[in-house]
Amino acid sequence: MSETPLTPENPVQPGAPEAAVERELAVQARQLDAADPLAELRGRFALDSADARASGAADIYLDGNSLGALPRAVPDRIADVIHREWGELRIRSWTESGWWTAPERVGDKIAPLIGAGPGRVVVGDSTSVNLFKAVVGGVRMAGKGCTEILVDATTFPTDGYIARSAARMTGLAVRPVEPARIADEVTERTALALVNHVDYRTGELNDLPGITTALHSAGALAVWDLCHSAGALPVGLDAHHVDLAVGCTYKYLNGGPGSPAFLYVRESLQERFESPLPGWNSHADPFAMDPAYTPAQGIARGRVGTPDILSLLALEAALEAWDGVAIEDVRTKSLALTDFFLACVAAYVPAGRARSVTPLNHRRRGSQVSLACSGAGEVMDELIRRGVVGDYRQPNVLRFGFTPLYTSFTDVERAAWVLGEVLGALPEVGPAAAGAGG
Ligand SMILES: *Cc1c(COP(=O)(O)O)cnc(C)c1O
Repeated sequence: MSETPLTPENPVQPGAPEAAVERELAVQARQLDAADPLAELRGRFALDSADARASGAADIYLDGNSLGALPRAVPDRIADVIHREWGELRIRSWTESGWWTAPERVGDKIAPLIGAGPGRVVVGDSTSVNLFKAVVGGVRMAGKGCTEILVDATTFPTDGYIARSAARMTGLAVRPVEPARIADEVTERTALALVNHVDYRTGELNDLPGITTALHSAGALAVWDLCHSAGALPVGLDAHHVDLAVGCTYKYLNGGPGSPAFLYVRESLQERFESPLPGWNSHADPFAMDPAYTPAQGIARGRVGTPDILSLLALEAALEAWDGVAIEDVRTKSLALTDFFLACVAAYVPAGRARSVTPLNHRRRGSQVSLACSGAGEVMDELIRRGVVGDYRQPNVLRFGFTPLYTSFTDVERAAWVLGEVLGALPEVGPAAAGAGG
């Protein structure tokens, strides 16, 4: 195998047998990029700096579903928050710089991306903590005779852990159910179902409108985890009458490592929502320092304690990358990117070496492609060494995330080409011994 690096000027490996096909797809990629109405948004991210290119660190980044890339607006904004708002204004910034109201203000900036009106989304704490608020808060609103919580059987683990603890505390049982079976399995004893909108491992998109309607027909609440759909595709929370939802902001919303998560509570339920974590920030009058608890009106009752201002304001700056962007256009590009990646993989990867576990049906596909492949852990290590950054999930999945704000069709074609090289060159190996983290 040649050591010649793939570059835009030299996309074809001399002598490679697939050269003719490769050139065709590389040309097609350039045409798709030229016609892409979102192409210029990439400039809003710190991906193509001259320094990065010179040091060879200009990776093809296909891991935005784990940690979104840095939006260019963030560093200067955070420097200003630190030097001026904290350094000079100090305590006055809670009011003068709008720190106190940031959880609701930033929530209103995320809201249009997930189909929510203003006043329905609050930002703070981790996804795990918001799952706890949503599940316990949901059980408290459910009918008296309810005995169980349904949990997506394929869920990201933290959702299941939190749901089981919430069930123990509220005297309910947890029953794992495949998302496609929820409509059949829900009963009048079901308080709520907690479902992942997009499966983090396979990239399968679950039927949010259909499952929500089925839950409501049985008198149960629908609680959705949007970690892999917020910022990747239209969600339509208000339109589909979703009751409660949570999501993280460091994946497709690019808020930065550990940026705070969001909680959505349907407007008509907010009056009845009783948080299991009624911290002083969720009080109707926090500075009254009242020993008795009275919840705030509206979504502010989803707050807990003092917000993490640095991360929250980094997220707010990161959301500027969405200015003028319609989530429907993001979805159109996302499907085009994943379709094109699948076509390139089919052209470059030796037959039988990798198989897509992501649905081909657009209505069932999120914004990632997962390939089942023997030795996936070692294969991903080698891809990363060659500058193609995706990730690996147990037991045998190569995961590639496509963030339409900054992923180009040229990235996609080159990533598939390098994958073809690696899978053509590496002998088939058994399941990798160890995997990456959560
Ligand atoms: C990423 C992810 C989480 C992360 O939870 P944190 O508390 O933010 O670490 C939770 N649920 C799902 C479905 C995820 O994809």
